[in-house]
Amino acid sequence: MPGFELIGEEEYAEISQVFRSGGILSRFGLNDRRSGCFKVEEFEAAFADNMKSNYALAVTSGTAALRVALAVIDLKPGDVVLIPSFTFVATAEAVIEAGASPRAVEINETLNMDPDDLESKIDEQVKAVIVVHMLGVPAELDAIKLVCDNHGLPLIEDTAWGCGGTFQGQKLGTVGRMGTFSFDIAKTITTGEGGMILFNDEQDFLRAKAWHDHGHENNPAVPRWEDTRKSSGFNFRMTELQGAVGVAQLRKLNSIIERQTEIYGKLSQAIREIPGVRLRSIPLHSQPTHDAVIFFVEESSSASKCRESLLKRGISTKILPEAISWHFFGLWGHMADIRTSYGPDISSSFPVSTKLLSQSVALPVMLEKSATLLKDVRSAILEATT
Ligand SMILES: *Cc1c(COP(=O)(O)O)cnc(C)c1O
Repeated sequence: MPGFELIGEEEYAEISQVFRSGGILSRFGLNDRRSGCFKVEEFEAAFADNMKSNYALAVTSGTAALRVALAVIDLKPGDVVLIPSFTFVATAEAVIEAGASPRAVEINETLNMDPDDLESKIDEQVKAVIVVHMLGVPAELDAIKLVCDNHGLPLIEDTAWGCGGTFQGQKLGTVGRMGTFSFDIAKTITTGEGGMILFNDEQDFLRAKAWHDHGHENNPAVPRWEDTRKSSGFNFRMTELQGAVGVAQLRKLNSIIERQTEIYGKLSQAIREIPGVRLRSIPLHSQPTHDAVIFFVEESSSASKCRESLLKRGISTKILPEAISWHFFGLWGHMADIRTSYGPDISSSFPVSTKLLSQSVALPVMLEKSATLLKDVRSAILEATT
């Protein structure tokens, strides 16, 4: 149940306040004309507070959040960043935009990065690791962080799908050195387009804040157009309208996750006893956000057969299997950097991921649902698997 289902009066009221306070739509500047209205700052402070993090920086998208986080760790051409084989293309795109090369790690039955394969993919070229909490299930952060710490590698959590989830009691996005979030229309809470980065370290935060704003230090001693700077940068600044929507959406986050967890419970109950069907594993001591219910079908059936059978009953799937080409590294021959490193048959480097993903089906957890959903899901899966 992504936040788009709940956009309403609360978001509208926050936006109206921006207009009533002078209508300044950018986060910086014209301070004497905005009656103290700074919605992006308000969103950042509330987000950091909700996640019990030290520092938060809002940006224009989840992809931008990854790009800005990578700017903090000084990558050079030839450097490699490890990412899981199952993620959205944005994770690899950000690495390439940062001037480094992505290298993928196999997933396991959590459908997230396999800590053992992570260890085996590390060599002297590897300079950072991005872990992804795919479709709301936390990755095995304890084992992954241990591998990173043992090799002195910074860990970035791509928390685009993990907003509000926890691992061993800690909010996702706060375990690694930095955590990035997406508020695009498909994610748990949305600002249309938007993103956030969480930081433990003040220096990391200050570097990212300057870099996302052309290097501006926002030195209080001088006007903005005489501002001081130490680094180059880019423009990934969030607008006040996005910030306003974010403030209202964030207030709904806990109840969204509660409702998703309840619906997930019913859906997974309806599925778990079907012969030949296995639910995706969830790491111990973790709280998923439950954006989807993912299950594996036996080899004798296939994920696409299952999807057809669900579609016949008016039930759609989410990413798996229909959007796999956007989410599996093995199919990204359209990206020159990956094609050059892996050769023409990229997926042959990922036998475990290929097998797991070919058997995976994801049902979206939506607030709006038909009265016969559980019955229809069961009969569709039964039809496809027997
Ligand atoms: C959605 C997503 C992103 C990118 O977020 P945008 O806000 O759409 O740019 C990055 N990583 C993952 C895993 C995602 O699902």
